Formats: sequence, structure tokens, C-alpha cells
Amino acid sequence: MERLQNFIDGAYCDPVKGQYLDNYEPASGTVYSQIPNSTEEDVELAVKAAEKAFPIWSEMSKSERSAILVKLSEGIQARMDEFVKAESRDNGKPLSLAAHVDIPRAVSNFHFFATAIIHYASESHQMEGVGVNYTLRKPIGIVGCISPWNLPLYLFSWKIAPALAAGNCVIAKPSEITPYTAYLLGKVAKEAGMPDGVLNILHGEGRYAGDAIVKHTKIKAISFTGGTATGEYIARTAAPMFKKLSLELGGKNPNIIFADCDFKEMLSTTLRSSFANQGQICLCGSRIFVERPIYDKFKEEFVKRVDSTVVAHPDNPDAKLGAVVSKPHMEKVLSYVELAKEEGGTVLTGGERVTVEGYENGYYLRPTVIEGLSFDCRTNQEEIFGPVVTITPFDTEEEVLMMANSTKYGLSATLWTSDLKRAHRMANELHSGIVWINSWLVRDLRTPFGGMKASGVGREGGWEALRFFTEAKNVFVKY
Ligand code: NAD
Repeated sequence: MERLQNFIDGAYCDPVKGQYLDNYEPASGTVYSQIPNSTEEDVELAVKAAEKAFPIWSEMSKSERSAILVKLSEGIQARMDEFVKAESRDNGKPLSLAAHVDIPRAVSNFHFFATAIIHYASESHQMEGVGVNYTLRKPIGIVGCISPWNLPLYLFSWKIAPALAAGNCVIAKPSEITPYTAYLLGKVAKEAGMPDGVLNILHGEGRYAGDAIVKHTKIKAISFTGGTATGEYIARTAAPMFKKLSLELGGKNPNIIFADCDFKEMLSTTLRSSFANQGQICLCGSRIFVERPIYDKFKEEFVKRVDSTVVAHPDNPDAKLGAVVSKPHMEKVLSYVELAKEEGGTVLTGGERVTVEGYENGYYLRPTVIEGLSFDCRTNQEEIFGPVVTITPFDTEEEVLMMANSTKYGLSATLWTSDLKRAHRMANELHSGIVWINSWLVRDLRTPFGGMKASGVGREGGWEALRFFTEAKNVFVKY
């Protein structure tokens, strides 16, 4: 069976303690490779390599760094097919999704930050008659990037690219559930001419490798995307060490539909915002609020469309949903369907496993729509992170705002209306880091990305990411 390796100091290597984890293919429920279960000893090796590389990388001109990152981006593009297949196999997502979203976005992430760094300028503040301040933006040093399994290379590269562009050396850990594309990235970085030790990729469990990254005194900043409970633990661990922290955490996003919306466009986008990637996108709108005059029409047409959604093996070109990422995750999602029933909800469609012929042990779930729940029950307050949505009618703007803002999360919100004033009014009042009006998941990489409340601390994207990955140093000169 194939054994993946860590990528440290520009070379692939086995974990120091020789421990491995099984890596599952969600579509068939079988183990298909093994990955290092790295420990603090591996993190130590990576830190040593990064320390050695930092003077070389940070002193290189921005345009030289940029050229290497552009080559890295082109290297992924040149291996598109290999990356797409690996991502789909590792995660269970439809091949078409990996081909149209995940891997192209990883290409864009590197390209975007490779060019952004050239245009990034530090500030200057003049004090008339007194002097001038200028602010240097220095790379931090060695930084840690830890990412989740839902959009593996997409989110891994979203952190690594700005960190590297800004001149830092990186110790990165992808999710142990989806390690494969991060594993492939090592050789692409090498071919792109990345100096050894600048990018180090370690595999393994959060409680060992992840924890060792967070606790290492020479790693000065942590950029983390994952669950809120993990984020809280990381914040508690890193705070006494005064590390810079960027936390992108869970969500329970509202999708608010007013009667005056463009019904057709809303319906097809709502199918995507509910179930894309098997509902495993932190930005999915899992709480759908529908204005009462169109509630019955929406319910009928939405459920009909959901019923006919094809759940199939990821390689099947007709698959709209593939497999969810793991057996424990599938069981967690199903347990929430049971909870919803206990809480008085009615399952309108779905709520069960799907058997795909030839792949009977795969983790396939029917997309699920539930109604009849109160806005404050656990099903409507806790993140499920699977193909499960609830639908709830509302009568007034005040009522829907109260329900939408009632969870501890605040990542994104979607709003469907043709009333311009209402759209702006609501966008202003929603407690979320991102609001999409008459759309969903339209991304401009320059914009601030992230959540409020328990959805995170800090923002990624554009200048926000480059600010995070640099230290500001103000210099004052007297006239
Ligand atoms: P997770 O928190 O279990 O794991 C995320 C990463 O953290 C993995 O690499 C894991 O190995 C590592 N990790 C776990 N424990 C650790 C520890 N003690 N110290 C250091 N690292 C540790 O999350 P997950 O299940 O992989 O991902 C799903 C979650 O991610 C959902 O809550 C989802 O909403 C969230 N998410 C958020 C965003 C966002 O941008 N806000 C994007 C995608 C996913």
C-alpha cells in the first residue's frame, strides 16, 4: 500500500517515530494509503530547516519570491488532472467539483498572492511640520498553517500562499483525513525552485503534529481553519506565548429568502448553497428562512429538486453529491437527523444513507430537508456540516433578523430580495463576516474573508492576509 511522506527541508522523508495512520477513500469506505502520524520530533526537524531557510527567503526580492510562487501555481495547473483525481478520491467530492472549484482555486491562490505581494505597499503618515512616519512590513519568521478536510488544497494554499509571499517560512499541516494533495504539493514546490526548508509539509493528527506546531516557541504565528472547539483550544494554548493568531472556524449560516426574490435563480442557487460538497462547506446556508407568502411554493419545488439530486460515486459525471468525508462524520450527520426528529422536526426528504452499487461501504447520504423546528433548538443552533438543511417560515424583517442572528456563529449569510433598500438594511444588521445578496459563494480574493463571534478571529484574503503574515514596524523621522 502506498505510504505518504512528510516534506521537510526540500525532501520527502519518513516520520521520525515511524508511526502511520490509515487513509480512507470515502467513496468505497476502504483504506487506500497510509500517512505519517508525525510528532514533535518531526516538527522540530521542520523548524530547524525553516530557521536555516528564513534568511534566504526573507531577503530575496519580492519579485524573485513572486516568480517562484507563479511557477508553483503553474506547476499545479500543469498537473491539474493528477490533483483533481487525488482530491476527489481523498475527500469523496465529485470529480467535477474538484475540477471546477478546488484545484483551480488552489492555482489562483498562489497566483493571486504571487502578484499581490508585488503591489503591497506599506503606509506612511506625515505630521505636518514635525516629521514623517513610515511603516515597514517585515516577515514574521516561521509560521504554522493548519487546515481542515472539506476543501483540502483550496484552504491549505489559501494560507500558505500569503505566508510565503510575505517572506515567511512555513510549517504546514493539512487535515489527516485529506492529506493527499498537500503531499503532492511538495514536489511541485521543489520543481518551482522553492529553496529547501521554506515550505515544510507535515502529516498527522492534530493532537500530535498540530499541537506541536501550536506549542513550538519558534513558530510565531498560527493560521488555523477548522472547528470552533479546536480553535478555542489553539487560542488557549497560543495566547500565553503571544503568538499571532488567525482563526477561521465553524458556521451555521442563514439563507434568507423574501417573497420578492427572483424565484428561479434563488432556487437553483439555494440547491448549491445547501448541498455543494455534500453540505461540507463552512459557508453553506444550512438554515433557510422563507417569507410566508412563498413558503409552500418554495417547500414544494425545493423538495422536488432535492429529491431528484443525484448522489453517486464521485467519478460519475452525473453526481451532484459524492460521499461525505468519513464514517464518523457520516454518523454524526445522521445523529443530527435523529435529534431533529426528537426535537419535533419533520424530514421532508432524505435523512438516510444511500447505497451506491459496487461501493456499498461508501459514506453516501441523501440530501436532507427538515421543517417544523423552532429557531432555537439544537438542530438550528449547532453546526452539522453535512447535507442537511432546515426550512422555517417568517413574517417580518425583524423576526427573521432575530432568528438569523440567534446562533453563536457569524460566518456568512445569504439574502434573496429585489428590494434594494431592504437588502442594504439587512446586510447592515446581520451578524456575519460575509453577506451575499442574490448570490452565494462569489469570491473576490481581495476581499476580507472570515467570521464574527464563534466563527473566528481575524480575516484572510487580500491585504488582510498579508498584514497578518507581517509584523508592522513604525519608524519616525523628525524633519
Ligand atoms: P478540526 O478542527 O477537527 O481540524 C482542523 C485541523 O486542525 C486539522 O488539520 C486537524 O488535524 C487540526 N487539529 C485538530 N486538533 C488540533 C490541535 N489540538 N492542535 C492543532 N491542530 C489540531 O476541523 P475539521 O473537522 O477538519 O473541519 C471542519 C470544520 O472546519 C468545520 O467546523 C467547518 O465549519 C470549519 N471550516 C471553517 C472554514 C472557515 O473559513 N471559517 C472553512 C472550512 C472549514
